[in-house]
Amino acid sequence: MGDNYSQLISRISEAAGLGIEDIERRIEAKRAKLSGLVSKEGAAQIVAAELGINFDQERLKISQLVVGMRKVNVIGKIIDISAVTEYNKNGKSGKVCSFRIADDSSNARVVLWDLHHISLIEQGKIGKGHVVEISNGSFRNGEIHLGGFSDIKKSKEEMKNVVEERIVVYKKLSEVKAGESFSTRAVIVQMFDPKYFEVCPECGKKVSEGKCAVHGEVKGKKRALVNIVIDDGSETIRSVLFGEGIKKLGITEEEVFSLEKFSEKKKEILGEEKLFFGNIRSNQVFNTNELNIDKIEDIDTSKLIAELESK
Ligand SMILES: [Zn+2]
Repeated sequence: MGDNYSQLISRISEAAGLGIEDIERRIEAKRAKLSGLVSKEGAAQIVAAELGINFDQERLKISQLVVGMRKVNVIGKIIDISAVTEYNKNGKSGKVCSFRIADDSSNARVVLWDLHHISLIEQGKIGKGHVVEISNGSFRNGEIHLGGFSDIKKSKEEMKNVVEERIVVYKKLSEVKAGESFSTRAVIVQMFDPKYFEVCPECGKKVSEGKCAVHGEVKGKKRALVNIVIDDGSETIRSVLFGEGIKKLGITEEEVFSLEKFSEKKKEILGEEKLFFGNIRSNQVFNTNELNIDKIEDIDTSKLIAELESK
């Protein structure tokens, strides 16, 4: 408790740009004014609110997280972890690592961007099966993102009954909000011819007129993108597919780079009904929504029936 309280004070102090003693004084003054009717923690929350700091020290269940929430505090067991990968994007290089944590309500992917946090994984101090406490994360696109101001540490708490199955919410396109992860059964109603572009073999950045902004003249690698439109009966939505995404639709590398083969394949794909898993991103420039696809599955009718029967 004492530890939580001092953490709370230092977070208020950081957020308000005021000294710890100053914050403590305000809290004591608040308690005195309220004749000691509120706890120190309660008074701290009031002081924080008066200073315009809007956060909740309360730990949330994973299922309670809402897209757009900042200063998210959760505890969960790591059920799956991916290797640390290095990236080089827009001239910036760094490392990224992610894992999935679960509590008794749900599970979510956690993305680490801070090198100190990533080193905990690299050194094996945090790993699969460990229970971790996360503070000050932000919840975006259905994932908990941890930056330099976030904290992650191993917890002594034990967690037994955690939800390991991926929670997929079946929703109609018309019901989904931006950022929310969901799955829907939809028909591919439109598929446009691929567009080609080149990327730098060194950094993966787009090459224009044979030049990479970072590496100068390079022999670019050819890439493709394909726009599709799906319809689930409630709405239609566009999605842009790149490399792996194109393969998920069953289009091979050879087919995507030959317009002739592509148009043959297109005849097969148009009108097909599939299960799409992903989230919706709003495109602020065009004021439209786009579907970001994580996974495409064929419809397994027997599985669907079994699911319906189990309800
Ligand atoms: Zn480059």
